[in-house]
Amino acid sequence: MDIPDWIREWIAKDRLVYNKYRISLEYLRHPKRIRFVKGVKDKETGEWISFEYIVKSKKYGKYRVKYYRGKYECNCPFFKHRQICSHILAVCQKTGIWPKKETIFYSKNKKFKEENQN
Ligand SMILES: [Zn+2]
Repeated sequence: MDIPDWIREWIAKDRLVYNKYRISLEYLRHPKRIRFVKGVKDKETGEWISFEYIVKSKKYGKYRVKYYRGKYECNCPFFKHRQICSHILAVCQKTGIWPKKETIFYSKNKKFKEENQN
């Protein structure tokens, strides 16, 4: 399971994200807690355009992880702070599909937000 360098650096620098990464490893040890719901693949390239997973937390119940063209979203509270969370990290490691860096670090950019409100 290859983690992109910028995510590795983030995990190393940010203690809260590091904690989420550790929790994600726990999910990966229990594959039934990461459930594929639906997805759409590009007919030509075979790559995923969008998909949705449910990640089941023992303590807090179910969270919905959505992916669309390089951007992940989760409905858990931590996601709002960092644009990433244990659920997304678990799905990324399971699928090998990682967010594009700009979808996270430029998310405060107004233009980007507007584009994603549709
Ligand atoms: Zn989450």
